[in-house]
Amino acid sequence: MSGLDARLVALRDQVREWGADFRRLGLALDRDPELIREHFDLPAVRYLSTMGIPPEYGNVPIPIAGNRFYGTLALERAIIMEELACADVGMLVASPGPLLAGVLVDLLADHEQKEWFYGRMLAEPLWTFFALTEPDRGSDAGGLTSTLTPVDGGAVLSGAKRYVGNACRAQLGVVFARVGSGPLGINAVLVETPAPGFSATALDSIGLRGARISAVELDDVHVPASRFVGRHLSPSRRGMWAFVQTFNLLRPGVAAIALGIARAAHEYVRDNRTTLRRDERDRLDELGRRITAARALVHLAARAVDARTSDGYLASAAKARASQLALDATRSACEFFGVGARFDHPQLDKLVRDARGLEFIEGTSNMQKLNLFQGLFTGKLDRDDPFRVGVGSPR
Ligand SMILES: Cc1cc2nc3c(=O)[nH]c(=O)nc-3n(C[C@H](O)[C@H](O)[C@H](O)COP(=O)(O)OP(=O)(O)OC[C@H]3O[C@@H](n4cnc5c(N)ncnc54)[C@H](O)[C@@H]3O)c2cc1C
Repeated sequence: MSGLDARLVALRDQVREWGADFRRLGLALDRDPELIREHFDLPAVRYLSTMGIPPEYGNVPIPIAGNRFYGTLALERAIIMEELACADVGMLVASPGPLLAGVLVDLLADHEQKEWFYGRMLAEPLWTFFALTEPDRGSDAGGLTSTLTPVDGGAVLSGAKRYVGNACRAQLGVVFARVGSGPLGINAVLVETPAPGFSATALDSIGLRGARISAVELDDVHVPASRFVGRHLSPSRRGMWAFVQTFNLLRPGVAAIALGIARAAHEYVRDNRTTLRRDERDRLDELGRRITAARALVHLAARAVDARTSDGYLASAAKARASQLALDATRSACEFFGVGARFDHPQLDKLVRDARGLEFIEGTSNMQKLNLFQGLFTGKLDRDDPFRVGVGSPR
């Protein structure tokens, strides 16, 4: 029982089919992350390149069983992310598209900003980036120190960002920086590259190599006033609040990516160890049950944020649970192939490396647990029935 309606099952099945291309190309992309440039015509890459753009801005995604899925809902994104990550997470994170930046734009940007951003994304496949983490400020993102200093017609952006996915090849992105002190003094701005003062250098990485995580230097980058995301909103809706809500919306998708990696490890054992001892079969079945349970939590978390954006507590539970599962599943899968597993099975070796990155994307497990318990202690998550999804008012 998937708990999905027929429409969402059709989405899942179609994306699963598209994923075959990702699986075929995954190892080659791991060796050369720029290989993605040759595959913009694949249906999954084409779909991701506009995923999250609402219909009113002209998005016409590939129809699936007579429906169009715009990827504006967390549940839709969770389904898509699990399937594509299971096929190959490297291809998923290497693909161009609005992705994280798009979620922020959808939530906060005004009509003119959306027209501009989405218009660019619809004209051709572009990479975007989402620059929050700084060299000394990862988990403590609210303590960021990059600055936006007012000048005539806008501001100049200065500082440094680290581990920013796709920044070295992106044409558009969002950068979080300070206009003042405290949680209200943070603003996200849209940045177009190349721009004088902007530089991004790919960092070498062991896992999730497709993401081309980058170090970004911002040296007096000019940002017009029109590129301050959410300029029509009060400072309390643009600062810390903005990125908390954005992360709430993103988190089920990140959890689903971890789930997809865990499932890929499980399927690898199933497909490549056709005869199993009784104890091995039990272990594999147990892993399968954990994957099914984690999926139920991820979907519940997605439904919760789709109902009310501030309900990100279950999503924290889902992300912590799924990233732990990805670690356990990939490690456990290796045990089915003996001591040389990672040498003899490059696919498995890649899954082990990719799973480690998921612990960090969008907040570590410690930070997710802190968020979850804050929800429980403040009563925002029902202690007696934490899995109850509030009806709330839709976003
Ligand atoms: C593949 C990948 C892609 C990424 N993509 C992006 C991106 O696109 N944009 C972006 O902005 N960032 C991105 N990041 C960065 C990511 O968000 C950070 O790595 C993450 O927030 C953790 O920050 P940090 O690495 O500085 O670790 P730290 O914050 O230094 O944490 C180190 C350890 O200390 C623990 N810790 C820290 N504070 C506490 C606390 N208060 N209580 C308990 N334990 C604590 C953490 O759990 C962790 O185990 C990416 C990272 C990776 C690995």
